[in-house]
Amino acid sequence: MTSKRQRRRRWFEPIGWLTAALAILGTLGFAPALAAQGDTPLLRLYVLTCGYNHVDDVSVYSPGVDVGVSKDFVVSCYVIKHERGILLWGTGLNDGLIDKPEGITAANGNFHLSIKRTLRSQLAKLGIEPEDVTYVSMSHMHPDHSGNGNLFTASTLILQEEEYDAAFGDEPQRYAFNPAFYGKLKDSKTIRLKGDHDVFGDGRVIVKRAIGHTPGHQCLFIDFHKMGPVLLSGDLWHFMKNRVHRRVPKFNFDKEATLRSMEEIERFAAERGANIWIEHDAEFNAAIPHAPAYHE
Ligand SMILES: [Zn+2]
Repeated sequence: MTSKRQRRRRWFEPIGWLTAALAILGTLGFAPALAAQGDTPLLRLYVLTCGYNHVDDVSVYSPGVDVGVSKDFVVSCYVIKHERGILLWGTGLNDGLIDKPEGITAANGNFHLSIKRTLRSQLAKLGIEPEDVTYVSMSHMHPDHSGNGNLFTASTLILQEEEYDAAFGDEPQRYAFNPAFYGKLKDSKTIRLKGDHDVFGDGRVIVKRAIGHTPGHQCLFIDFHKMGPVLLSGDLWHFMKNRVHRRVPKFNFDKEATLRSMEEIERFAAERGANIWIEHDAEFNAAIPHAPAYHE
């Protein structure tokens, strides 16, 4: 017969051992990632600038509005460091553009694309080699988001099924995709989605289906420990004025689906109290800290 006191001691003993073991490991510098920041598990976001786009006529994004007005956009990439791995969201414009300081034109001369730093060098500054990236994902496969896809063949690719099929199918150019930038990912380990996806399994980093801009466009929700929830918009909106007026770019794959996605994402963001970050919005991006600073 064991007394009540003994039973209680037995119950607590393993926890005591665990605490002691963690303390010893910690002293030796082998603290598990979970304990790396005290009680707060690791979840950090580094914002990188992966290019610039000077658009001569912004009305391609807002049909009939601001015709002939020019606008500057940035191309953002995001490194999410989680205790269970690294997610790279967006791979930016192709690093090869570094050899063309004057940039290149696209979209019949309306876009002027350039980069000042390569993605690879920006990752290296954070101590990250492409092989260290556990998951690579992007809002969609347009060249300003998939430009360095080929660097990440060691990573698991996360895409909506329709986006994957369009990107790796027979007619990628029909969607303005260029497999020269991402074709090597065809043989990568891939998570194909038809909906949302909890990347690390703890509800903190969730890919949100938001189709319409392209066949399988998606956004990214991140629930930070300190800063609270943020939603990276992908190209659901390109700048704030379009979000306010719900304007759909003329080159979107499906206008009705885009409007539905805007509604769904607005509702989700409101429910979760998430701040929406518009990835291409130059004014917004000028106001938030970029790498090596981080958000958590
Ligand atoms: Zn874009």
